[in-house]
Amino acid sequence: MDVGAAYRVPATELNVLVAALDDAGYAVWGPTIRNEAVVVDRLDDAANLPHGRRTVQAGGRYRLDATGDARVFACVHGADSWKRLLHPPKVRLWRCTRDADGALDFAGDEPAEPRPMAFFGVRGCDLAAIRRLDDVFDRAAAPDPVYEARRNGLFVVAVECAEPGGTCFCASMGTGPQVERGFDWRLTELDDADGHRFLVGAGSALGAELLAPLALAPATAADETARRRQGEGAVMGRALDTAGLGEALVARRESGYFEQVAERCLGCTNCTMVCPTCFCTTVEDTSDLAGTTAEQHRLWDSCFTLGFSYVNGGTVREGGPARYRQWLLHKLATWWDQFDACGCVGCGRCITWCPVGIDITAEAAALRAEPVP
Ligand code: SF4
Ligand code: SF4
Repeated sequence: MDVGAAYRVPATELNVLVAALDDAGYAVWGPTIRNEAVVVDRLDDAANLPHGRRTVQAGGRYRLDATGDARVFACVHGADSWKRLLHPPKVRLWRCTRDADGALDFAGDEPAEPRPMAFFGVRGCDLAAIRRLDDVFDRAAAPDPVYEARRNGLFVVAVECAEPGGTCFCASMGTGPQVERGFDWRLTELDDADGHRFLVGAGSALGAELLAPLALAPATAADETARRRQGEGAVMGRALDTAGLGEALVARRESGYFEQVAERCLGCTNCTMVCPTCFCTTVEDTSDLAGTTAEQHRLWDSCFTLGFSYVNGGTVREGGPARYRQWLLHKLATWWDQFDACGCVGCGRCITWCPVGIDITAEAAALRAEPVP
């Protein structure tokens, strides 16, 4: 099996890929449905993927509908993302216990899953989001051991979107819906006159090695044409004009427009919790009542909380306008200065899960249209 070549997997045999990863020693995770939402969970069988469902998404709206067909990846992501597995919402950094003689014993962070993980069904936007997290945690001057323990050995099975969600805008961010790099396997689901099937292509030597024993039939020229046409047909209803965007937003950092957004924003932090690239954390110390055990945990935090910018006895960003400005300008402007990339990958989660439907694409466009103060 060659890197770059694509092979056919009949839809009824998709589980051979999941089983191959399990046999190779991976803990496989993938999208599934829980409480009528798509979440990432352990995937023991491809039958647990979200067959025959479609997400209906809009600002502040999310619902799963039936598609009436057997497509597996027709529904895009929910609020959950792969970030939860690589950068856990709560992780113990250390624990200290004191014995009866007063001796202290320190233990380090919680061990990660002993098996390396395989992510099955990573969309283009989320693949780009993992690269953003790598920039923050893995390529920094001081790599984060919690992230590294989970990221090392990760096997990525990407999937190309045929039906973008109602709040998606990855095409304008250059992150999807088709994927060209950063995966070990790439899946494309096709369902046409030639039948319901998947194309699987290896994007790494390891991916090719794991495909080899499966003796799959090569994809045909018609399959490749169908893949290209399907990608061209994955049209999105939203877009973000990124040309000169960072400079335009920074020039308007004192704009009164942020007051207008803040009048709608509840400061609920949903946008930051669901964002697959938001990485900010706080640290919490706890001890038991007997005074024998103390722990320190790292938890996700949000620039929308008052406590996040609390320094030297005071909160720096006291008002909603300052907090929304921090979030928007970091995502779309100053992230470039830090990491030479955009902090937004166009997944649309912050739009869907904002209870008042604040839309990053609309707010950025409206701010850009404001005069420079
Ligand atoms: S800012 Fe919004 S659209 Fe962009 S990556 Fe984060 S959640 Fe997705
Ligand atoms: S999800 Fe919406 S309301 Fe909540 S903090 Fe973000 S922008 Fe404000």
